[in-house]
Amino acid sequence: RIISGESTGLDEEQTELSLRPRTLKQYIGQEKIKKEVAIYIEAAKNREEPLDHVLLYGPPGLGKTTLAGVIATEMGVNFKTTSGPAIEKPGDLVALLNELQPGDILFIDEIHRLPKNVEEILYSAMEDFYIDIVVGQDATAHPVHFPLPPFTLVGATTRAGLLSAPLRARFGIVEHMNYYTEDELTAVVLRSAAVFDSKIDPQGAHEIARRSRGTPRVSNRLLKRVRDFAQVAQKESIDLEIVDYALKLLQVDERGLDETDRKMLMTMIKLYAGGPVGLATIAANIGEETDTVADMIEPYLMQIGFVKRTARGRMVTPAAYSHLGLDLHDEKN
Ligand code: ATP
Repeated sequence: RIISGESTGLDEEQTELSLRPRTLKQYIGQEKIKKEVAIYIEAAKNREEPLDHVLLYGPPGLGKTTLAGVIATEMGVNFKTTSGPAIEKPGDLVALLNELQPGDILFIDEIHRLPKNVEEILYSAMEDFYIDIVVGQDATAHPVHFPLPPFTLVGATTRAGLLSAPLRARFGIVEHMNYYTEDELTAVVLRSAAVFDSKIDPQGAHEIARRSRGTPRVSNRLLKRVRDFAQVAQKESIDLEIVDYALKLLQVDERGLDETDRKMLMTMIKLYAGGPVGLATIAANIGEETDTVADMIEPYLMQIGFVKRTARGRMVTPAAYSHLGLDLHDEKN
C-alpha cells in the first residue's frame, strides 16, 4: 500500500535517512510535544543528568524514530536504535546496554513486542540502572549483577495500551503523536523536495499534503512517485496538474484513501448496512489482519470522521457515504 504509514524496507529507509530532520527546529509540527520536550531537555542538561525515559505512541510514520534521534542530537549524546522483535533474549539486551556511554539514548521501536523475559530485566535497568541475570546452566548457574551507565530509553509503539502496566509506569515522559495538519505536511513536502533538489509549486505541495493521511512518511513517498511522473512528462516543476494525474493513477483519492480503505467502507456498507460491526469481522471480510486494520487503516478513517467507534462495534458515518457517492437512505433500505 503506497499510503500505508509503515516503512516498506531498506530502500525507503535509505531515502528517509536523508530526509530526517536532525534538530527540534527542523522538526515540523507536533508543537505541544516539541515545547514540552525542549523544557525536559534543558532541565536534564542543567542538572547534568540523562533525560527521563520517554514513551512515544501513535500511528506508524508520524516521526517517532525521527523525534528520538532529534532528542539525542539536542542532548548531545549517542543514539542507538533497535526494535522489540530484534531483542530475542535477555543476553541481547545486556549486550546493547553494555555498549552505552553515560547519557546515551537507546531507542526501541515496537517496544510492545519485547519478549516477556527481556521486558522483565528492563524494569531494573530503567529504574536503577542495573541488571541481575543468571549465567551458566544447572550446577554452574549463578546470578550476576551488572551495573549499567545511566541512560535514556525511548520506546515507540502504535498504541500505549499494548504495553504492560509495569513497563508503562517506568516512563517519566509519555507523549501521544498526532496526525499532521495539511499546512504542516505542505512544509514537510517543500522541505523534502528541496533535499531532492526537485522544483515544486506551492499548490502541488499542498495537494500532496492533502492526500497524505496526516502522515509525513506518506507525504515523502507520494512526493517520490509524483516526481517520477513529472520527470517523464518533462515538467519543469511539480504542479497541481501532475500531482492530480499521478495520484489518480495510483488510486489515492481526494481524501488520501486507497482501495483498501474503500474496500473496508464498502464491505461495512454492503454486508453490514454500515454497522455496527466488530473489527475482527471487518478484517476477515477484507482479507487483512485485525492488527493491520486497528493500527493502519481504521485510525485515519476515524480521524477524518468516516468511521466511528460505538459500544457495539464500528459504524460508517454519513460523511463516508457522501464521499463514496452513495445515498445513505438507499443503502439502508
Ligand atoms: P515507524 O514507527 O513506522 O518507524 P515513525 O513514526 O518512527 O514510523 P519516522 O521513521 O520517524 O516515523 O518518520 C518517517 C519519515 O517521515 C522520516 O523519514 C522523516 O523524513 C519524515 N518525518 C517524520 N516526522 C517529520 C517531521 N516532524 N518533520 C519532517 N519530516 C518528518
